[in-house]
Amino acid sequence: MATCRLCKGQYPQDQFIDGNGPRYLVCVRCAVDEGYLPENEVNSLYDDRTSRARMALYARRYGPMFWVVAGWFFWALSFSAIEFWGTLLLVALIVGTVSTPVLFFLRTAKFQAQLRRLTP
Ligand SMILES: [Zn+2]
Repeated sequence: MATCRLCKGQYPQDQFIDGNGPRYLVCVRCAVDEGYLPENEVNSLYDDRTSRARMALYARRYGPMFWVVAGWFFWALSFSAIEFWGTLLLVALIVGTVSTPVLFFLRTAKFQAQLRRLTP
């Protein structure tokens, strides 16, 4: 990992351009912004579309875990006192808690394939 001189971001070494002087320790994204490199020559650049797609992919993968935790929290705070809805939500939470890790591991291969496709 190295730090980009311009944006202060930390990236692996393959995200940096070669060169001295103003091109020294500049990441590919800043290099494109500063005009050191044309955009279509950089094959390791994460453009906006790719990074948005990666964010969505990570959100889809880790979102259910977040909702299970939030659901338990919410249930403990309020619904455990309400008899009918509390029980209904408890059943839904138990089903969700059991199925989320199972689905998580079942989808691991698909997630890694999709992530590889979105890695320039
Ligand atoms: Zn930079």
